[in-house]
Amino acid sequence: MDTYKRLPISFVKGEGVYLYDEKNRRYLDMVAGVAVNALGYGHPKLTKALCQQVEKLMHVSNLFQNPWQDEVASMLVERFHTKDAKVFFCNSGAEANEGAIKLVRKYFKDKGEKNRYRIITFYKGFHGRTYGSMSATAQEKIQKGFEPLLEGFDYVNLNKLDELRRAINNSTAGIMLEVIQGEGGINEAEGEFLNKVQELCRREGILLIVDEVQTGIGRTGRFYAYEHFDLKPDIITLAKGLGGGFPIGAIIARDEVARSFIPGSHGSTFGGNPMACACAKVVIEEVEKLLPKIREVGDYFKNALKTFGKVKGKGLMLGLDVGEDCQDVVLKALEKGLIINCTGGSVIRFVPPLVVEKEHVDECINILRDVLT
Ligand code: PLP
Repeated sequence: MDTYKRLPISFVKGEGVYLYDEKNRRYLDMVAGVAVNALGYGHPKLTKALCQQVEKLMHVSNLFQNPWQDEVASMLVERFHTKDAKVFFCNSGAEANEGAIKLVRKYFKDKGEKNRYRIITFYKGFHGRTYGSMSATAQEKIQKGFEPLLEGFDYVNLNKLDELRRAINNSTAGIMLEVIQGEGGINEAEGEFLNKVQELCRREGILLIVDEVQTGIGRTGRFYAYEHFDLKPDIITLAKGLGGGFPIGAIIARDEVARSFIPGSHGSTFGGNPMACACAKVVIEEVEKLLPKIREVGDYFKNALKTFGKVKGKGLMLGLDVGEDCQDVVLKALEKGLIINCTGGSVIRFVPPLVVEKEHVDECINILRDVLT
Protein backbone atom coordinates (compact mmCIF):
# COMPACT_ATOMS: atom_id res chain seq x y z
CA MET A 1 0.00 0.00 0.00
CA ASP A 2 1.04 3.53 -0.64
CA THR A 3 2.03 4.37 2.95
CA TYR A 4 5.46 5.87 2.28
CA LYS A 5 6.59 8.64 -0.03
CA ARG A 6 9.61 6.66 -1.23
CA LEU A 7 12.73 8.26 -2.66
CA PRO A 8 13.63 7.18 -6.20
CA ILE A 9 16.57 4.92 -5.30
CA SER A 10 16.98 1.20 -4.60
CA PHE A 11 19.93 0.07 -2.57
CA VAL A 12 21.39 -3.34 -3.28
CA LYS A 13 24.21 -3.64 -0.75
CA GLY A 14 25.94 -1.95 2.14
CA GLU A 15 29.40 -1.79 3.63
CA GLY A 16 30.25 -0.02 6.89
CA VAL A 17 28.48 3.34 6.74
CA TYR A 18 27.95 3.26 2.98
CA LEU A 19 25.07 2.01 0.85
CA TYR A 20 25.32 1.15 -2.87
CA ASP A 21 22.60 1.46 -5.50
CA GLU A 22 22.02 -0.74 -8.57
CA LYS A 23 24.60 1.23 -10.54
CA ASN A 24 27.11 0.69 -7.74
CA ARG A 25 26.98 4.36 -6.79
CA ARG A 26 28.07 4.89 -3.21
CA TYR A 27 26.08 6.88 -0.63
CA LEU A 28 27.15 7.95 2.85
CA ASP A 29 24.34 6.85 5.15
CA MET A 30 23.41 9.22 7.98
CA VAL A 31 19.99 7.62 8.52
CA ALA A 32 20.90 3.95 9.14
CA GLY A 33 17.47 2.56 8.30
CA VAL A 34 16.00 5.17 10.68
CA ALA A 35 18.31 4.62 13.65
CA VAL A 36 18.33 0.85 13.21
CA ASN A 37 21.62 -0.32 11.67
CA ALA A 38 23.67 0.36 14.79
CA LEU A 39 26.73 -1.58 13.58
CA GLY A 40 26.46 -0.40 9.99
CA TYR A 41 26.40 -2.79 7.05
CA GLY A 42 28.18 -6.12 6.75
CA HIS A 43 29.54 -6.09 10.31
CA PRO A 44 31.50 -9.38 10.41
CA LYS A 45 30.48 -10.47 13.92
CA LEU A 46 26.81 -9.64 13.39
CA THR A 47 26.69 -11.36 10.01
CA LYS A 48 28.44 -14.43 11.36
CA ALA A 49 26.18 -14.72 14.41
CA LEU A 50 23.04 -14.49 12.28
CA CYS A 51 24.29 -16.95 9.64
CA GLN A 52 25.30 -19.48 12.30
CA GLN A 53 21.92 -19.17 13.98
CA VAL A 54 20.05 -19.56 10.68
CA GLU A 55 21.87 -22.81 10.07
CA LYS A 56 20.99 -24.16 13.52
CA LEU A 57 17.45 -23.00 14.22
CA MET A 58 15.38 -20.05 13.04
CA HIS A 59 12.27 -20.18 15.19
CA VAL A 60 10.81 -22.21 18.07
CA SER A 61 7.87 -20.09 19.35
CA ASN A 62 7.53 -18.99 22.93
CA LEU A 63 5.95 -22.28 24.00
CA PHE A 64 9.42 -23.69 24.74
CA GLN A 65 12.52 -22.67 26.62
CA ASN A 66 14.42 -19.95 24.82
CA PRO A 67 18.00 -19.69 26.10
CA TRP A 68 18.81 -17.02 23.51
CA GLN A 69 16.20 -14.75 25.10
CA ASP A 70 17.48 -15.51 28.61
CA GLU A 71 20.94 -14.38 27.61
CA VAL A 72 19.86 -11.14 25.92
CA ALA A 73 17.40 -10.36 28.74
CA SER A 74 20.23 -10.71 31.27
CA MET A 75 22.42 -8.39 29.23
CA LEU A 76 19.68 -5.76 29.02
CA VAL A 77 18.83 -5.99 32.72
CA GLU A 78 22.53 -5.88 33.63
CA ARG A 79 22.59 -2.38 32.12
CA PHE A 80 19.24 -1.27 33.62
CA HIS A 81 19.26 0.84 36.82
CA THR A 82 17.96 -2.09 38.85
CA LYS A 83 18.84 -5.76 38.41
CA ASP A 84 15.41 -6.52 39.83
CA ALA A 85 13.80 -6.35 36.42
CA LYS A 86 12.32 -8.57 33.71
CA VAL A 87 12.13 -8.41 29.94
CA PHE A 88 9.40 -9.19 27.39
CA PHE A 89 10.51 -9.59 23.77
CA CYS A 90 8.53 -8.53 20.72
CA ASN A 91 9.29 -7.40 17.18
CA SER A 92 8.96 -3.63 16.91
CA GLY A 93 8.74 -0.34 18.73
CA ALA A 94 4.98 -0.03 18.43
CA GLU A 95 4.57 -3.53 19.79
CA ALA A 96 6.88 -2.77 22.72
CA ASN A 97 4.90 0.37 23.59
CA GLU A 98 1.58 -1.43 23.14
CA GLY A 99 2.76 -4.02 25.65
CA ALA A 100 4.00 -1.32 28.02
CA ILE A 101 0.59 0.39 27.97
CA LYS A 102 -1.10 -2.93 28.75
CA LEU A 103 1.36 -3.60 31.55
CA VAL A 104 0.67 -0.21 33.18
CA ARG A 105 -3.08 -0.84 33.16
CA LYS A 106 -2.75 -4.39 34.47
CA TYR A 107 -0.40 -3.31 37.25
CA PHE A 108 -2.98 -0.94 38.73
CA LYS A 109 -5.86 -3.41 38.20
CA ASP A 110 -3.86 -6.00 40.14
CA LYS A 111 -3.34 -3.46 42.92
CA GLY A 112 -7.10 -2.96 43.12
CA GLU A 113 -6.93 0.57 41.69
CA LYS A 114 -9.46 -0.12 38.96
CA ASN A 115 -9.91 3.46 37.81
CA ARG A 116 -6.27 4.24 37.52
CA TYR A 117 -5.48 3.71 33.86
CA ARG A 118 -4.68 7.05 32.23
CA ILE A 119 -1.26 7.78 30.75
CA ILE A 120 0.16 11.24 30.16
CA THR A 121 2.21 11.63 26.97
CA PHE A 122 3.76 14.63 25.22
CA TYR A 123 2.97 16.66 22.12
CA LYS A 124 5.38 15.95 19.25
CA GLY A 125 6.17 12.58 20.80
CA PHE A 126 6.00 9.41 18.73
CA HIS A 127 5.25 5.94 20.03
CA GLY A 128 4.04 3.95 17.03
CA ARG A 129 1.16 3.19 14.70
CA THR A 130 -0.92 0.55 16.48
CA TYR A 131 -4.06 1.73 18.28
CA GLY A 132 -2.53 2.01 21.73
CA SER A 133 0.80 3.44 20.61
CA MET A 134 -0.91 5.78 18.10
CA SER A 135 -3.30 7.02 20.79
CA ALA A 136 -0.22 7.70 22.94
CA THR A 137 1.24 9.70 20.05
CA ALA A 138 0.05 13.27 20.49
CA GLN A 139 0.29 14.31 16.85
CA GLU A 140 -2.79 15.11 14.80
CA LYS A 141 -1.19 14.02 11.53
CA ILE A 142 -0.61 10.53 12.93
CA GLN A 143 -4.10 10.12 14.45
CA LYS A 144 -6.30 11.87 11.88
CA GLY A 145 -8.87 9.61 10.26
CA PHE A 146 -8.41 6.76 12.72
CA GLU A 147 -10.77 7.96 15.43
CA PRO A 148 -12.11 6.82 17.81
CA LEU A 149 -8.74 6.41 19.45
CA LEU A 150 -7.99 4.27 22.46
CA GLU A 151 -9.31 6.08 25.50
CA GLY A 152 -7.07 7.04 28.40
CA PHE A 153 -4.36 9.41 27.21
CA ASP A 154 -3.74 13.01 28.28
CA TYR A 155 -1.36 15.19 26.32
CA VAL A 156 0.88 17.99 27.56
CA ASN A 157 3.79 19.99 26.16
CA LEU A 158 7.30 18.76 26.84
CA ASN A 159 9.27 20.75 29.45
CA LYS A 160 6.11 22.46 30.76
CA LEU A 161 5.92 21.45 34.39
CA ASP A 162 2.78 23.41 35.23
CA GLU A 163 0.86 21.75 32.40
CA LEU A 164 2.04 18.37 33.56
CA ARG A 165 1.03 19.04 37.15
CA ARG A 166 -2.43 20.15 36.03
CA ALA A 167 -2.88 17.01 33.94
CA ILE A 168 -2.25 14.65 36.85
CA ASN A 169 -5.27 13.31 38.74
CA ASN A 170 -6.44 10.21 40.63
CA SER A 171 -6.69 8.17 37.46
CA THR A 172 -3.15 8.92 36.25
CA ALA A 173 -1.31 5.61 36.03
CA GLY A 174 1.72 6.52 33.94
CA ILE A 175 3.81 9.22 32.35
CA MET A 176 5.40 8.11 29.08
CA LEU A 177 8.09 10.07 27.29
CA GLU A 178 11.10 10.08 25.00
CA VAL A 179 14.05 11.92 26.56
CA ILE A 180 14.81 13.11 23.03
CA GLN A 181 11.78 13.13 20.75
CA GLY A 182 12.99 11.57 17.52
CA GLU A 183 10.15 11.73 15.00
CA GLY A 184 8.95 15.04 16.49
CA GLY A 185 12.14 16.89 15.49
CA ILE A 186 14.95 15.90 17.92
CA ASN A 187 13.40 17.81 20.83
CA GLU A 188 15.30 17.35 24.06
CA ALA A 189 13.61 17.03 27.44
CA GLU A 190 15.37 19.33 29.92
CA GLY A 191 17.20 17.78 32.86
CA GLU A 192 15.42 19.97 35.38
CA PHE A 193 12.05 19.01 33.91
CA LEU A 194 12.90 15.31 34.01
CA ASN A 195 13.97 15.58 37.65
CA LYS A 196 10.55 16.98 38.46
CA VAL A 197 8.83 14.28 36.42
CA GLN A 198 10.67 11.65 38.43
CA GLU A 199 9.78 13.41 41.66
CA LEU A 200 6.08 13.62 40.71
CA CYS A 201 6.02 9.95 39.71
CA ARG A 202 7.53 8.91 43.04
CA ARG A 203 5.26 11.12 45.10
CA GLU A 204 2.03 10.17 43.31
CA GLY A 205 2.87 6.50 42.71
CA ILE A 206 2.75 7.03 38.94
CA LEU A 207 4.76 4.70 36.69
CA LEU A 208 7.44 6.32 34.56
CA ILE A 209 7.74 4.79 31.10
CA VAL A 210 10.66 5.91 28.95
CA ASP A 211 10.29 5.10 25.26
CA GLU A 212 13.87 4.25 24.29
CA VAL A 213 12.92 2.79 20.92
CA GLN A 214 14.98 5.40 19.07
CA THR A 215 17.27 6.70 21.83
CA GLY A 216 18.25 3.35 23.35
CA ILE A 217 21.18 0.99 22.66
CA GLY A 218 23.92 3.60 22.62
CA ARG A 219 22.37 6.03 20.19
CA THR A 220 22.85 9.07 22.44
CA GLY A 221 26.23 8.04 23.87
CA ARG A 222 24.82 6.19 26.90
CA PHE A 223 23.54 2.65 26.68
CA TYR A 224 20.06 3.87 27.61
CA ALA A 225 19.41 7.58 27.05
CA TYR A 226 17.67 8.02 30.43
CA GLU A 227 21.14 7.54 31.99
CA HIS A 228 22.02 11.12 30.98
CA PHE A 229 19.58 12.17 33.72
CA ASP A 230 18.69 11.33 37.26
CA LEU A 231 15.93 8.97 36.15
CA LYS A 232 14.91 5.55 37.37
CA PRO A 233 12.14 4.51 35.00
CA ASP A 234 9.75 1.71 35.95
CA ILE A 235 9.47 0.60 32.34
CA ILE A 236 11.50 1.23 29.20
CA THR A 237 10.80 0.09 25.67
CA LEU A 238 13.36 -0.79 23.02
CA ALA A 239 13.44 -1.77 19.33
CA LYS A 240 15.22 -0.20 16.32
CA GLY A 241 18.96 -0.50 17.08
CA LEU A 242 18.60 -3.56 19.33
CA GLY A 243 18.77 -6.07 16.47
CA GLY A 244 21.18 -4.04 14.33
CA GLY A 245 18.78 -4.53 11.38
CA PHE A 246 16.99 -7.68 12.49
CA PRO A 247 13.50 -6.93 13.87
CA ILE A 248 13.31 -7.18 17.65
CA GLY A 249 11.68 -5.10 20.36
CA ALA A 250 11.68 -5.35 24.13
CA ILE A 251 9.97 -4.11 27.27
CA ILE A 252 12.09 -3.93 30.41
CA ALA A 253 10.18 -3.42 33.64
CA ARG A 254 10.98 -3.34 37.32
CA ASP A 255 10.17 -6.73 38.76
CA GLU A 256 7.27 -5.49 40.89
CA VAL A 257 5.59 -4.12 37.76
CA ALA A 258 6.62 -6.97 35.45
CA ARG A 259 4.93 -9.46 37.77
CA SER A 260 1.54 -8.26 36.51
CA PHE A 261 2.22 -10.15 33.29
CA ILE A 262 1.55 -13.80 34.05
CA PRO A 263 1.22 -16.75 31.65
CA GLY A 264 -1.57 -15.82 29.26
CA SER A 265 -1.51 -12.05 29.90
CA HIS A 266 0.42 -11.10 26.81
CA GLY A 267 2.33 -12.74 24.00
CA SER A 268 3.98 -12.65 20.61
CA THR A 269 4.57 -15.53 18.20
CA PHE A 270 7.86 -14.26 16.83
CA GLY A 271 8.96 -12.08 19.76
CA GLY A 272 12.60 -12.64 20.66
CA ASN A 273 13.16 -15.49 18.26
CA PRO A 274 16.62 -17.11 18.11
CA MET A 275 17.78 -15.12 15.06
CA ALA A 276 16.71 -11.80 16.58
CA CYS A 277 18.40 -12.67 19.87
CA ALA A 278 21.60 -13.84 18.17
CA CYS A 279 21.80 -10.40 16.54
CA ALA A 280 20.87 -8.49 19.69
CA LYS A 281 23.61 -10.24 21.66
CA VAL A 282 26.31 -9.06 19.25
CA VAL A 283 24.82 -5.55 19.05
CA ILE A 284 24.78 -5.13 22.83
CA GLU A 285 28.39 -6.36 23.19
CA GLU A 286 29.68 -4.16 20.39
CA VAL A 287 27.70 -1.03 21.32
CA GLU A 288 28.99 -1.24 24.88
CA LYS A 289 32.57 -0.95 23.54
CA LEU A 290 31.59 1.88 21.18
CA LEU A 291 30.04 4.18 23.82
CA PRO A 292 33.06 6.48 24.40
CA LYS A 293 33.56 6.80 20.66
CA ILE A 294 29.88 7.55 20.06
CA ARG A 295 30.20 10.47 22.51
CA GLU A 296 33.42 11.70 20.92
CA VAL A 297 32.29 11.49 17.29
CA GLY A 298 28.86 12.83 18.33
CA ASP A 299 30.40 15.94 19.91
CA TYR A 300 32.62 16.44 16.88
CA PHE A 301 29.59 16.11 14.58
CA LYS A 302 27.48 18.48 16.70
CA ASN A 303 30.18 21.15 16.67
CA ALA A 304 30.65 20.86 12.93
CA LEU A 305 26.91 21.19 12.32
CA LYS A 306 26.72 24.38 14.38
CA THR A 307 28.19 26.33 11.45
CA PHE A 308 24.87 25.77 9.64
CA GLY A 309 22.41 26.74 12.37
CA LYS A 310 20.70 25.46 15.52
CA VAL A 311 21.74 21.91 16.44
CA LYS A 312 19.87 19.66 18.86
CA GLY A 313 20.38 16.21 20.29
CA LYS A 314 23.02 14.05 21.92
CA GLY A 315 25.59 11.51 20.77
CA LEU A 316 24.70 10.26 17.32
CA MET A 317 21.11 11.45 17.41
CA LEU A 318 21.36 14.98 16.08
CA GLY A 319 19.06 17.47 14.42
CA LEU A 320 19.85 20.61 12.44
CA ASP A 321 16.96 23.04 12.28
CA VAL A 322 17.01 24.77 8.90
CA GLY A 323 13.88 26.80 9.70
CA GLU A 324 11.91 25.64 6.64
CA ASP A 325 10.75 22.42 5.06
CA CYS A 326 13.88 20.35 4.52
CA GLN A 327 12.66 17.79 1.98
CA ASP A 328 14.40 19.74 -0.77
CA VAL A 329 17.69 19.55 1.12
CA VAL A 330 17.23 15.79 1.51
CA LEU A 331 16.85 15.37 -2.27
CA LYS A 332 19.79 17.59 -3.11
CA ALA A 333 21.99 15.75 -0.62
CA LEU A 334 20.93 12.44 -2.13
CA GLU A 335 22.04 13.63 -5.56
CA LYS A 336 25.44 14.29 -4.03
CA GLY A 337 25.64 10.87 -2.39
CA LEU A 338 24.52 11.70 1.15
CA ILE A 339 21.53 10.11 2.87
CA ILE A 340 19.85 12.35 5.44
CA ASN A 341 16.28 12.63 6.58
CA CYS A 342 13.79 15.31 7.53
CA THR A 343 11.86 15.15 10.80
CA GLY A 344 9.44 17.49 12.52
CA GLY A 345 9.13 19.50 9.27
CA SER A 346 12.27 21.63 9.33
CA VAL A 347 14.85 19.50 11.13
CA ILE A 348 17.48 17.47 9.29
CA ARG A 349 18.03 14.33 11.31
CA PHE A 350 21.37 12.56 11.60
CA VAL A 351 21.21 9.06 13.08
CA PRO A 352 24.15 7.30 11.39
CA PRO A 353 25.42 3.81 12.16
CA LEU A 354 27.15 3.97 15.54
CA VAL A 355 30.41 2.84 13.89
CA VAL A 356 30.67 6.17 12.04
CA GLU A 357 34.13 7.87 12.16
CA LYS A 358 35.18 11.53 12.16
CA GLU A 359 36.27 11.24 8.51
CA HIS A 360 32.68 10.30 7.58
CA VAL A 361 31.43 13.31 9.52
CA ASP A 362 33.82 15.50 7.51
CA GLU A 363 32.51 13.98 4.30
CA CYS A 364 28.93 14.66 5.39
CA ILE A 365 29.71 18.26 6.39
CA ASN A 366 31.39 18.94 3.02
CA ILE A 367 28.36 17.73 1.10
CA LEU A 368 26.02 19.67 3.39
CA ARG A 369 28.04 22.84 2.82
CA ASP A 370 27.52 22.38 -0.90
CA VAL A 371 23.82 21.78 -0.50
CA LEU A 372 22.99 24.43 2.11
CA THR A 373 25.00 27.34 0.71
N1 PLP B 1 8.83 4.92 19.58
C1 PLP B 1 9.73 5.76 19.07
C2 PLP B 1 10.40 6.74 19.96
C3 PLP B 1 10.03 5.72 17.70
O1 PLP B 1 10.92 6.58 17.20
C4 PLP B 1 9.38 4.78 16.88
C5 PLP B 1 9.64 4.71 15.44
O2 PLP B 1 10.11 5.63 14.83
C6 PLP B 1 8.45 3.91 17.47
C7 PLP B 1 8.20 4.01 18.82
C8 PLP B 1 7.73 2.89 16.66
O3 PLP B 1 8.60 1.87 16.31
P1 PLP B 1 8.25 0.85 15.12
O4 PLP B 1 8.27 1.62 13.86
O5 PLP B 1 9.33 -0.19 15.22
O6 PLP B 1 6.91 0.29 15.44
